[in-house]
Amino acid sequence: MTDTTMTKPETVFASGAGEEAPLIEITDLKKHFPVTKGVFSRVVGQVHAVDGVSFSIKHGETLGLVGESGCGKSTVGRTVLKLLEPTGGSIKIKGEDITALSPKEMLPYRREMQMIFQDPYASLNPRMQAGDVVREPLIIHEVGSKAEQVERVAWLFEKVGLRPERMYAYAHEFSGGQRQRIGIARALAINPELMVCDEPVSALDVSIQAQIINLLMDLQDEFQLSYLFISHDLAVVEHIAHKVAVMYLGRIVEATDKTSLFEMPLHPYSEALLSAVPIPDAKARTRNRMILQGDVPSPINPPSGCHFHARCPYAMARCSVEAPPLREVVPGHLAACHLHENGVTFPLAKPAGE
Ligand code: SF4
Repeated sequence: MTDTTMTKPETVFASGAGEEAPLIEITDLKKHFPVTKGVFSRVVGQVHAVDGVSFSIKHGETLGLVGESGCGKSTVGRTVLKLLEPTGGSIKIKGEDITALSPKEMLPYRREMQMIFQDPYASLNPRMQAGDVVREPLIIHEVGSKAEQVERVAWLFEKVGLRPERMYAYAHEFSGGQRQRIGIARALAINPELMVCDEPVSALDVSIQAQIINLLMDLQDEFQLSYLFISHDLAVVEHIAHKVAVMYLGRIVEATDKTSLFEMPLHPYSEALLSAVPIPDAKARTRNRMILQGDVPSPINPPSGCHFHARCPYAMARCSVEAPPLREVVPGHLAACHLHENGVTFPLAKPAGE
């Protein structure tokens, strides 16, 4: 059967007529990894880690990319930065197609796109002083004299809430939150416009998470940064993101602005993820907990039809054979689900068997 899950790429967070052009535009992005077997490493299959993902991010905007572990969201982040070569699709930054550029040709674009990693300890070289870690991108991109670089590092330390004299300390002398601040200072060093934040707070204590999120939001306001914020934690995404795309098994299944997603999730998978998010004011809203059965299926051999059908409480007969396209159900709100074929079916139909 023909795979119909591909959205018209331009419909996912596309700019309308007269609107500002996006900073980054991803169209039908694919990243497959070969599965090999035997002493001759014969290719016996493909892991469809990212399978036709499209979105765009404007200046000063945050797109939250959410989903369970293994859904492909981190691979999207790395492929967007071309730390992994895409299998298909296109990546444009400020209208320039960078998909096929070599590592050398990518160098000028690297200045515009940086990454903040999940584990601040693993991402910092333990043998280097923190100031040298932050200074390294300035050396690679040959920005300023050594004195100017050191001056900028001191300024960056202050910007991320660290005392400049701490630039002579080593990674193990900092707490987890401080190490993530160093990671952010390093990513900021060469004035990027886009930051890919890959689970930047999930390794931190809850109280520290809030500090780092607030720091990222302050920096966004000050420098008009754009974030691709990758997280499994919808509560964190609700705080920082302007728009949200929900991923399941290599594909975006729902995409809209934050308010629409949290107030009216249209895809059953988003509904299940949201039902697990604690509500601070229990009197104001209630959510029925929806427990998903089983794990995310293998991306080597994804289920036919709608990839979510084996776990979906609303699954119908056609769901296992016919893949739903990602379509605009209401203006600005896209979902890939047969339930909304003729407009919003909400509240969602009762799960089969109830
Ligand atoms: Fe997929 Fe069908 Fe469930 Fe919609 S109702 S999410 S199409 S299985």
